[in-house]
Amino acid sequence: MAIQIIFATGNKGKLREAGEILGHNYSLVSPKDLGITEDIPETGSTLKENSLQKADYLYVRTGKNCFADDTGLEVDALDGAPGVYTARYAGGEGHDFQANMDKLLSELAKKPGCDRSARFVSVVTLILDGETYFFEGEMKGKIAMSKAGCGGFGYDPVFIADEYPDRTVAEITEEQKNAISHRGKALRAMAEFLKNRK
Ligand code: IMP
Repeated sequence: MAIQIIFATGNKGKLREAGEILGHNYSLVSPKDLGITEDIPETGSTLKENSLQKADYLYVRTGKNCFADDTGLEVDALDGAPGVYTARYAGGEGHDFQANMDKLLSELAKKPGCDRSARFVSVVTLILDGETYFFEGEMKGKIAMSKAGCGGFGYDPVFIADEYPDRTVAEITEEQKNAISHRGKALRAMAEFLKNRK
C-alpha cells in the first residue's frame, strides 16, 4: 500500500510535480486535506529554517510523515537578495509576482552593466518516522533585462536558465522546467533517498 506523506503546500502544481517525482509508492496529501487551513508560519532567517519550520509545524500537529520546501532567488549583483525575502520582495503580504519582478528589474537598472547572474535555491525538509532530513536543489542562470513569456509563475518571466539561454523560464514548457528546476532537483534527491531506504 502507498505510504502517505503530507506536503506542506496549497499549490496544486507543486503537489502534482512532487507526486510525479515520488511515484505511486507514495500518496501525497496537502495540509488542507487534513483540515489544516491556517497559514503555516515562515519566520526563519534562512531557507533551511523556514523549510524546517513548515515541516515541523505539520509534524507536531499530525505526528505523520511530512515534507516542506522553501525557495529563494539569489542575485549576485544584489549580494544574494532577495534570498529569504523572495516571496515578499516588494513588501506587503507577498506573492505579488508583478511587483516583485518590477522591483528586481529596477534594483538592477541602478547598476548598469552589472553581472546579472542569479540562482534559485530550494531546500526540502523531510520528517520521516520522526527523523529530519534535508535536500537541496539549485537552478543557475541570470536575470533578463525585461519580462518575457507567460508560463510558470513567480519570477519565471525574468529568469533565464543556463540550459535555455535564449528565452526565459516562462517561455519553456512545464516539463522542460521541471527537469532543470531547483525544486525538481531537491524533490528528486528526496525521492532517491526514499527509494534507497527500503
Ligand atoms: P516558495 O518557497 O516555493 O513559496 O517560493 C517563494 C517565492 O519564490 C515564490 O513566491 C516565488 O516568487 C519564487 N519562486 C519559487 N519557485 C519559483 C520558480 O520555480 N520560478 C519562479 N519563481 C519561483
